[in-house]
Amino acid sequence: MQIMHSSSLRCRLIVITGPSGVGKGSLVKQLLVRHPEIWLSVSATTRSPREGEINGEHYFFLEKDRFKELVRNEGFLEWAEFAGNSYGTPRKEVKEKLSSGKDVLLEIELKGARQVRKNFPEAIQIFLAPPSFEELERRIRGRGTDDEDAISRRLLRAKEELKAQDEFDAVVINADFETALLELEEKLALHRL
Ligand code: 5GP
Repeated sequence: MQIMHSSSLRCRLIVITGPSGVGKGSLVKQLLVRHPEIWLSVSATTRSPREGEINGEHYFFLEKDRFKELVRNEGFLEWAEFAGNSYGTPRKEVKEKLSSGKDVLLEIELKGARQVRKNFPEAIQIFLAPPSFEELERRIRGRGTDDEDAISRRLLRAKEELKAQDEFDAVVINADFETALLELEEKLALHRL
């Protein structure tokens, strides 16, 4: 489905999903530089921080027990297991930002995107795809942040995620960064600054 272009149509809750290594992080980062009106939700995870990742900025890095407690207390808008770790979107912050009139962006994996679709059908969901599976594998390996086991799990999951791309409102192929960014802005009906 193509999203209509109209200045009266404002995106409120935006979901960006795509396989690990597709370049979601860099594209989202640049999107936020160009559109400071969008607020990016900081997720919680049980994964250990990668080099350079800051608690509260990239993720809230939580112990497994604390994560489970938040799940029990319905602290997450959605949550999922991914490659051996848990990831979740803090509910309170997202609700607060939405009610203060901010656009909220969630950068999450497929199972989470499905939960959001069920609970917030009005959310706009974009899938970021690589130009090919081989290129995705090259990018994941080139990143050098994961061990072989994590790489295999991420690649397996990527295959599943790629099969689900038609569920999304729009698909953006990240072959060239600038082109993908422009396309993302277009699909979200955002006006360039
Ligand atoms: P990474 O470990 O590479 O930072 O993230 C692994 C995957 O988890 C990525 O696909 C990322 O989009 C996803 N992810 C990050 N935060 C969340 C979240 O809050 N919920 C869900 N469902 N997935 C998330």
